Amino acid sequence: MALRGSVLLRDRLENPREGLSTFFYPHKPTPLHQDKTILQGGFLLSLRRSTKSVVAFFFYYSGIFAFYKRFFMKGTVTILMFHRVTEVFFDVSLLVKRKTFEECLKYITQSYPVISMDFLSQNFDKWENIPDDSFVITFDDGWIDFHDTAYPILSRLKVPATVYLTTGFVSSKCSYWQERLNDLLVQILAGKKTLRTKDSIISILEINLKLRDVILNSKATEVTFKFIDYLKEFTHDKILKTIADLEMFLEGHSIKIDNNKERPFVNWDELNHIKEPDISYGSHTVNHMILTNEQTDVVEKEIRKSKEIIEKETGRDVIHFCYPNGNYNDEIKKIVSGTYKSACTTNSGFVSKDSDIYALNRIGINEEMVAGLRGNFSKYVFTLSLFLESIRK
Ligand SMILES: [Zn+2]
Repeated sequence: MALRGSVLLRDRLENPREGLSTFFYPHKPTPLHQDKTILQGGFLLSLRRSTKSVVAFFFYYSGIFAFYKRFFMKGTVTILMFHRVTEVFFDVSLLVKRKTFEECLKYITQSYPVISMDFLSQNFDKWENIPDDSFVITFDDGWIDFHDTAYPILSRLKVPATVYLTTGFVSSKCSYWQERLNDLLVQILAGKKTLRTKDSIISILEINLKLRDVILNSKATEVTFKFIDYLKEFTHDKILKTIADLEMFLEGHSIKIDNNKERPFVNWDELNHIKEPDISYGSHTVNHMILTNEQTDVVEKEIRKSKEIIEKETGRDVIHFCYPNGNYNDEIKKIVSGTYKSACTTNSGFVSKDSDIYALNRIGINEEMVAGLRGNFSKYVFTLSLFLESIRK
């Protein structure tokens, strides 16, 4: 999970929401669920899509894109970053729906060369071998919908792709901490009375203060995402402690936590069922920790162990890496470069022969970046999104 799309987040936050009133006044729907409805079918979504479609259409035919492509994109490779190919997920910045995904891939294969990450890394020093305007397709995290939904489409269209696996989650029923946190906060926000007390919820004082501050000073639907962003500054241990405290708080108020979730990630059998050599597996660490917050010994273990596990379980070589949440520094990059042949970030932009192969830019794709007026794939919106993401710093 990694999309740090400030544009997307802003989009999400610009939706009208019930403010703190939702939190204090009972008998209203759970704010985050309410927000989902607004995002997925509301009038404002249609309005935004209409405006974007019109702008995208003019952008495509005005010649700006042709000019940009000719002079700025020339000799570059576009690495696309997908997360989930599914219909519903709490973080809409990470999902593309099945139909738009398929149409998007069809458009890409008809319009551009698609190369594998293996080919890109093998030819990085012989850039002239790489066809102009090539695309590389990547998936982060190893969600189950990669196997169930994306893979059959990739296979049918013969599109190469690399999936970055978080080995600790393969075959497990775990959730990423962001999703777990969302589930817990939805329940805590729904149980408004419990939060009106002065009890501390989280045992780490500064995190507890921040949660109170976010709840009191943010619109209800912003709470989860603001709190997630804040927690990303802490070590994985502290994040897990925070989640454990939230669970204890709910249990202490006799609020039952739903643990009967379906398995959200691929398992080893599913991965081994995929035989195409053009579908490759890369490493996304063992526990998806934000590596820049951790000690060197932990970082080394996360980086090396995941490669060993994937190679043992699949019998395939693992030579590509992807930084969880996109966070890295020189020390981390050095460890990665001693173990792998490439590494992807979440920094937005194209890749050129002058790029650092251990800090590859990508363009994160989600539904809003590809869907046109009627919710189907639009090459105009897709093209405009690529352009906007490539100039975003
Ligand atoms: Zn990730």
